[in-house]
Amino acid sequence: KSGFVSIVGRPNVGKSTFLNRVIGQKIAIMSDKPQTTRNKVQGVLTQEHSQTIFIDTPGIHKPKHKLGEFMLKTSRNALKEVDVIMFMVNAEQAIGKGDEFIIDLLEGNKTPVFLIINKIDLVHPDELINIIASYKDKFDFAEIIPISALQGNNVENLLSTIEKYL
Ligand code: GDP
Ligand code: MG
Repeated sequence: KSGFVSIVGRPNVGKSTFLNRVIGQKIAIMSDKPQTTRNKVQGVLTQEHSQTIFIDTPGIHKPKHKLGEFMLKTSRNALKEVDVIMFMVNAEQAIGKGDEFIIDLLEGNKTPVFLIINKIDLVHPDELINIIASYKDKFDFAEIIPISALQGNNVENLLSTIEKYL
């Protein structure tokens, strides 16, 4: 099996940290260069029974002018071409405008969206239930998976769940 995964989320939620962990530092650092191309490959993860191609979808930010709106349309289309969208959020931060903007962008898309609650090492386990609840009524997520990209908690579970959708 093989397929494509796009990671979306506000700046600093841990997207690069996740990629560094699962794919290796070099590729993810390279991908931090500004990009204008659509669906740029960030790295390939080879598991025993699958190959997952992580791609970057540029332009997922608030449109401030016409170019922004064009980019937005490009992003929306790019997100239709992947098998899984990982929507990554920071467990420490309440859902904000930046998150809601991305949720709006995902609306009407048939691609399964995983809510990835990252940085769980920074929150109390009891708090996690409230965090999940605050996102759950915003969108019909295919999966909700808490992880720590930095420490590796639950990352293996996320990868095997992705495999099921390829
Ligand atoms: P990006 O902008 O979404 O690519 O975010 P980065 O991967 O650059 O991470 C932003 C900051 O959050 C860095 O200082 C990371 O070390 C930190 N970070 C990322 N994931 C975690 C995590 O699971 N736990 C903790 N405590 N910090 C994290
Ligand atoms: Mg990054």
